[in-house]
Amino acid sequence: MQNKITILGIPFDNMTRKEFLKALYQRMEDKQKTFLVTANPEIVMFAKDNKDYFDLLLQADFIAPDGIGIVRASKALNTPIKERVPGFELMIGLLELANLHQKRVYFIGAKEDIIGLAVENVKKEWPSIRIAGSHHGYFDHNDPAIIEQVKATKPDIVLVAFGFPRQEKWIQRYLNEASYGIAVGVGGSFDVLSGKVKRAPSIVQRFHVEWLYRLMKEPSRYKRMSVLPLFLKEIRKQRKKVKDL
Ligand code: UDP
Repeated sequence: MQNKITILGIPFDNMTRKEFLKALYQRMEDKQKTFLVTANPEIVMFAKDNKDYFDLLLQADFIAPDGIGIVRASKALNTPIKERVPGFELMIGLLELANLHQKRVYFIGAKEDIIGLAVENVKKEWPSIRIAGSHHGYFDHNDPAIIEQVKATKPDIVLVAFGFPRQEKWIQRYLNEASYGIAVGVGGSFDVLSGKVKRAPSIVQRFHVEWLYRLMKEPSRYKRMSVLPLFLKEIRKQRKKVKDL
C-alpha cells in the first residue's frame, strides 16, 4: 500500500527521493507503464480550478511533492510529508539510474537548439544512457504521429518538457498507446540541462528559497508566482475545516 497524503484533493506519495527512485526502478524492471507527476503549489492550484486537469492528475501512478510549499502545507494540515522531492532532482535521479542500468531515454520538449544542447550534455555526463531519441516541443501536441514515433524507439523513460498542463495531457495520450515505460513532465528542466538557464546556487536551494532566486532572475514569473499566497490561503481554509470537524 502506498502512503498517500492529500493536499487540496491531490494525493501525494509520501516517499523520500530515494524511495521514489527505488519504486520507479522496480516498475521499470517489471515493464509497467508509469505516469509520474511532480506537483508544486502552482500545479495544485491550477488543478483546483480545472476539473479536467484535476482528473488527469488522479490517474498518475505517483505524485511527488515538488517544492517546500507542498511540504509546509502538509505540516500545516497535520499530515507531514517526509521531504520535498524537487522535480529536477527526481529527473537527475532517473538519469543516474538509466546510466547505471543502460536504460533507453527519450527527451521531448523545449526549443530545438535547447534540446540539442541538453542531449549533448546528457551524453557527456551519463555516457551509458541509451538515447532512444529526442524531439523539440513545438509541434501539434495532438499529433498521433509523434506518439508513434516516440513509441517506436521503445524508451524505458520519456522526459516531457512542455510545461504544465500540456506535458501531462500529452503523457496521458502517450501512455494510452505505449506498452511500458515511465513518463514524467519535467517543465523547464531541459533549459537547465542545456546550460542556458542556471539552477539556483546550492546555498539558495539549501535554504529553500529557490523560488525567490528564480523570481529575481526572471521577474516575468511574478504573475505565475503570485499563486503562492493564494495556495497558502487555501491551506489555511482547509486547516480550519479539519479543526472544525
Ligand atoms: N515548451 C514546449 N512546447 C510548448 C510550450 C513550452 O516545449 O508548446 C517548453 C519551453 O520551451 C520550456 C518548457 O516547455 O522549455 C516550459 O518551461 P516553463 O518554465 O513554462 O515550465 P515550468 O518549469 O515552470 O513548469
